[in-house]
Amino acid sequence: MRKPKSKSSRKQKDLSELQEIELLNSWIESQKPDCGSNPMSLPALPSDVPVGRLGGTLFSPYAGATRFEQLPVSKKTKDALRQCKYVEMTDIQRASLPHALCGRDILGAAKTGSGKTLAFVIPLVEKLYRERWGPQDGVGSIIISPTREIADQTFDVLKFVGRHHNFSAGLLIGGRKVEEEKEHVNDLNILVCTPGRLLQHMDETPNFDCSQLQVLVLDEADRILDVGFKDTLNAIISQLPKKRQTFLFSATQTKSVKDLARLSLKDPEYLSVHEKAVTATPTLLQQAAVIVSLDKKLDVLWSFIKTHLNYRILVFLSTRKQVKFVYEAFKKLRPGIPLKCLHGKMKQEGRMGTYSQFSEKRCVLFSTDVASRGLDFNKAVDWVVQVDCPDDVASYIHRVGRTARYQSKGQSLLFLLPSEVKMLEKLKEAKIPIKSTQANPDKLQPVSGLLASLLVKYPDPLLGLAKRAFITYVKSIQKQKDREIFDVTNLPIEEFSASLGLPITPKIRFANQKIKSKKVPELSPLVEPESWDKEDRLELPKEELDIGDFMEEEGGEEDALVRNATANEAEGEGRKIGDIIPATRVSKKKKLKINIHRPVGTRVVFDEEGNTLPPLARLADINNSGLPDEIHDMKNEYYKKLREDMKVVDKEDKVLDRQRRREKRLKHKMKLKRGNTEEDSEDNLSDSEGEPAEDRPRKKSKIYFGSDDEGEREEGKKKLGFTADSMSLEEQEALALKLLNSMHS
Ligand code: ADP
Ligand code: MG
Repeated sequence: MRKPKSKSSRKQKDLSELQEIELLNSWIESQKPDCGSNPMSLPALPSDVPVGRLGGTLFSPYAGATRFEQLPVSKKTKDALRQCKYVEMTDIQRASLPHALCGRDILGAAKTGSGKTLAFVIPLVEKLYRERWGPQDGVGSIIISPTREIADQTFDVLKFVGRHHNFSAGLLIGGRKVEEEKEHVNDLNILVCTPGRLLQHMDETPNFDCSQLQVLVLDEADRILDVGFKDTLNAIISQLPKKRQTFLFSATQTKSVKDLARLSLKDPEYLSVHEKAVTATPTLLQQAAVIVSLDKKLDVLWSFIKTHLNYRILVFLSTRKQVKFVYEAFKKLRPGIPLKCLHGKMKQEGRMGTYSQFSEKRCVLFSTDVASRGLDFNKAVDWVVQVDCPDDVASYIHRVGRTARYQSKGQSLLFLLPSEVKMLEKLKEAKIPIKSTQANPDKLQPVSGLLASLLVKYPDPLLGLAKRAFITYVKSIQKQKDREIFDVTNLPIEEFSASLGLPITPKIRFANQKIKSKKVPELSPLVEPESWDKEDRLELPKEELDIGDFMEEEGGEEDALVRNATANEAEGEGRKIGDIIPATRVSKKKKLKINIHRPVGTRVVFDEEGNTLPPLARLADINNSGLPDEIHDMKNEYYKKLREDMKVVDKEDKVLDRQRRREKRLKHKMKLKRGNTEEDSEDNLSDSEGEPAEDRPRKKSKIYFGSDDEGEREEGKKKLGFTADSMSLEEQEALALKLLNSMHS
């Protein structure tokens, strides 16, 4: 955004700007479209009639405009649009710009790739221009995007549109140095940001002031309004002035009254341009679904890639671990086309780099849903392949929306398990024209055998990745909400495991029962890390959580597995894995207390990326994802072995004991024979072999209790303080109970 050159030229500029602003205001005011009308349904304005002031107080109408030139928009903006080759407006732009320019709140819904960004960037820039906003005026406008990549792209569009204006704009997103941002943030007029980072500045940056805010934009609004961002957004909104203009844009829009109340919208214009469209997805998009059994998915995917080596293909998998595994494994198999991967836990530069490099002519990008929304890939994506079924119809629309953007063609292929065919019906009900196809068995190139040998050859990292891919996929199905489509009990687990090349099927433990018993029902234990970039966010337990500093670092998981398992063994068990791991790790580092249910507007702590919820989310992940399952299995194994060992020792003890008693009895008889009639209590009691030593309570020695817990063992000793050298576990338990009862009575 350019700065004026000298004082005199600025004065002149100011004068002409003032005149222009006056003209624009009168034009806008005199030709306002009717409230509640959709300018798209008006007859198109002829393109050859004069625009602007037609004489005196008469201005040309702008509702019904089809070209940017016909709008009451500043010369600076029009010049920029023309230079960017934007001439004709898209439907959503035609529908919303006239309302937005005259100051109304907008709820805009339009298909993916239909030009929503310009629909809010233009009126935002214009509003600040007409208000004569300057660098000294502080934050005049905020655009909130759900992901850094979308924020980055929006920022680019803003830079284009605002290139001749004088505003300062900044991109505030995670993954960058927040301290540097803090130094400049108070000088910015337009902020493009992710919710977490914005709140971080609101909370941490001295004198950060949004009290003069004119325009607030929520891009991908349904995503930002959903539960995952709820607390963050509420805290943000509480710090913004109510009197402002608000734009909400998305491809799949919610009209939920509650949400609108939260945002204090004033009689918003609801503009949904594709509501009555025959199809919910771009018309130039060809969509197909193929039924594939779970164990054949990778074969079909591999075959697809091998037969589409000259395309730009975006492949969606449901978890980060699957993305990593398929990417690493396929890379080793050299399909003959460059491969890339993208997921939420990649470092910011890596993420940005990946999606911009995806402009290579031929390339396969494996991704989680982090790439499913809003991104406008530099070069057209030819194919969107969904290897795993999307969560719901909306998610499907967003994923396929990465192709066939703005007048370009695209194709999509959805893999469905035989148990997921219901998804097809749902897509068709939602006006999505999707055809069923079949994989050509002649062209199928099985890859599972190759994977098995790869896993043997490169156990590090492939074996671990394959295991994690397997576990996270099954868990992702288990946590799905739509039970009509997803059925974890129906998955061919063994075959699936084998198809990833795994020699044995990893054990999966669904930890939710345990968590439930902890009375934290909202804490879904099965959510995968990707989900922090997706819709499903955790409802958090209503208590102050000591989250400590145990966030996983990239690639640290295998180590963590070993480390935690050791800690477990050392500590004994009897507690849940989830209790042990955080405690062990937290105690080593500085503790950080976060009350995640703090009242709106109070302080919250952020991670280095500006996220608020993920630490807690990661708590759930660390507690309950496959990692603890494995530890749990190891733990069980360990204690099983311990019990077995004890049984053996027990038996040996019994034999010895019997022998001892026999000897004693013999001695006793001899004594009796010798005329010693003194009673020996021991002998009365211990005749039968199985009988325990409850009758010999004064002897001191060790005692084991069924709990196997070191702590309890110690406690048992203290409380009871007596002996049981040769008892079975059951016997010892019975003994302990009896004694306890007798102590109480
Ligand atoms: P959405 O947010 O609706 O998914 P975008 O705003 O990302 O879509 O726009 C999709 C693509 O369409 C972008 O590449 C953008 O440059 C292009 N585009 C938007 N509006 C126009 C227009 N009026 N004329 C030409 N291209 C446009
Ligand atoms: Mg968009």
